[in-house]
Amino acid sequence: IAAGAMVVSLAACSGSTGGDAGSGDNAGKGGLVGVAMPTKSSERWIQDGNAVKKQLEDQGFKVDLQYAEDDIPTQVSQIENMITKGAEALIIASIDGTTLTSVLQDAADADIPVIAYDRLIRDTENVNYYASFDNFKVGQQQAWSLLNGLGLTDLEGKPVDGAPAGPLNIELFAGSADDNNATFFFNGAMKELQPLIDAGTLVVKSKQTDFNTVATLRWDGEEAQSRMENILTSTYSDGSKVNGVLSPYDGISRGIISALEGSGYTVGAEWPIISGQDAELDSVKAIVAGEQFATIFKDTRKLAEVAVNMTVALLNGEKPEINNTTDYDNGKKVVDSYLLDSAIVVKDNITEQLVDSGYWTQAEIDG
Ligand code: BGC
Repeated sequence: IAAGAMVVSLAACSGSTGGDAGSGDNAGKGGLVGVAMPTKSSERWIQDGNAVKKQLEDQGFKVDLQYAEDDIPTQVSQIENMITKGAEALIIASIDGTTLTSVLQDAADADIPVIAYDRLIRDTENVNYYASFDNFKVGQQQAWSLLNGLGLTDLEGKPVDGAPAGPLNIELFAGSADDNNATFFFNGAMKELQPLIDAGTLVVKSKQTDFNTVATLRWDGEEAQSRMENILTSTYSDGSKVNGVLSPYDGISRGIISALEGSGYTVGAEWPIISGQDAELDSVKAIVAGEQFATIFKDTRKLAEVAVNMTVALLNGEKPEINNTTDYDNGKKVVDSYLLDSAIVVKDNITEQLVDSGYWTQAEIDG
């Protein structure tokens, strides 16, 4: 393929290390990279996809970027297509981390390296590296933002003087059970919340605390909304109030907010503290409006950079940079990982975290 051959030299020239060209099988490096993203229904994946595509193209690669609208067979066939089209590497944010075993065997048979993007791919040997955030810490940050909003700790989880003795009512939401991250977020959060539940400072009034009970398939905001509506009806019709909600993702937070509004809560007095994740624009606006207390900012541009660097290194026959070799066992092996840091965003630091970093403009937030 002529275009592929042309970009080989570009990639070779722009490579910072100028290392070994790799095996003869990878003679087409600088060619096509397949990028499989889960869905366009959440803003973050659009940003991820765009950032990965742009950074690969800047390095002279061609990119096949596909979104599967959260449908597993669609994602499998998209990846199958990428292999058929001659992709030389795959960057995959899976929908269900356990469903790619067979298609990734095909990738391995064709000597195509695979980077798991943000979400760990499970139950296969055929994933080379994992680019993500420290997902357990993300969960802790979600709990700390909840505890901070409730007046119990600072944003690093340190107890504050004059904290209310409780009991404070909270409810728990987790992400999609088939997404490896959801367990990490929930376990990270519960590490912080459980001691306070045990001490009676926090009460999960619905008694729904089991991961599978509080999980939200496909991170669906509407499912979260109806679960919250049910909880409000079944548990809080006695006049008691929910003081805080652990939410693992901004889309789920928006569902929870709708449920609260629908049952007569108004922002201001007695409006609960709600956490989130992804710094989605609508949720940043909700933080400004006082509906959502916090979100977790994970800079998708940096994640894209990690994944692209891994890909380029692999195609150059080099070893990608990693910073974790212990935490991400996918059921077949521990996958070498590079984990980025995340940050808690509350009303006071929106400018510092999101505007100064160029993630959102002030006009977008105000608009
Ligand atoms: C990601 C989160 C995101 C969630 C829903 C997770 O795998 O790590 O950033 O909120 O999926 O899209």
